[in-house]
Amino acid sequence: MSHQLNKHNLERFKGWLIAQGATLLNPTNQYEVLRFEHRGVTSIIYKNAKGAWSSMVGDAAGAIKAFTKGRSWTTEAIRAPLGTAKRAKYVTELLARDGNRCFFCNRIMQENELSIEHLVPRVHGGPHHLSNLALAHRDCNQQAGHLSAVEKIALREKNIKKGVDGISESNHHAATAKQQENNSVATF
Ligand SMILES: [Zn+2]
Repeated sequence: MSHQLNKHNLERFKGWLIAQGATLLNPTNQYEVLRFEHRGVTSIIYKNAKGAWSSMVGDAAGAIKAFTKGRSWTTEAIRAPLGTAKRAKYVTELLARDGNRCFFCNRIMQENELSIEHLVPRVHGGPHHLSNLALAHRDCNQQAGHLSAVEKIALREKNIKKGVDGISESNHHAATAKQQENNSVATF
């Protein structure tokens, strides 16, 4: 991925960040090109020892992408991740509260598929609080990203109903097959 942001338009990028509601912070070491905070997420652009911009932290990559494409940055901010330690704590609490089934599709999630869903999105003021959080497959979460909280719950209800019907139907088939098998055993 190439970023058209460079030292020549860095000042313009800073102004743009401020216009998006970000706060510029002081770099804490010589390897930081830029450090800023937006919606509780700290983002950093680093340079390596040779001076090349080498890595991004927080939502720096999202901000640069929006800047270079002339887009507003709000949608990128929704996807801004929780800090690792905080995320792990929420995941543990949500697993204890809800179990390991996806909020949307009700199927079991593997650990590497987990994502934290904000029922009311961050951009609409939804807090990082357990009452606003649920666990979902990363894919399911992304697909539901544009839905309102009410639509999300409707989707969940629909999938749970479908899942339950699916299970009872296959159990029914299994039971019927078993019965036929028993019948044939009895016949012969
Ligand atoms: Zn799912």
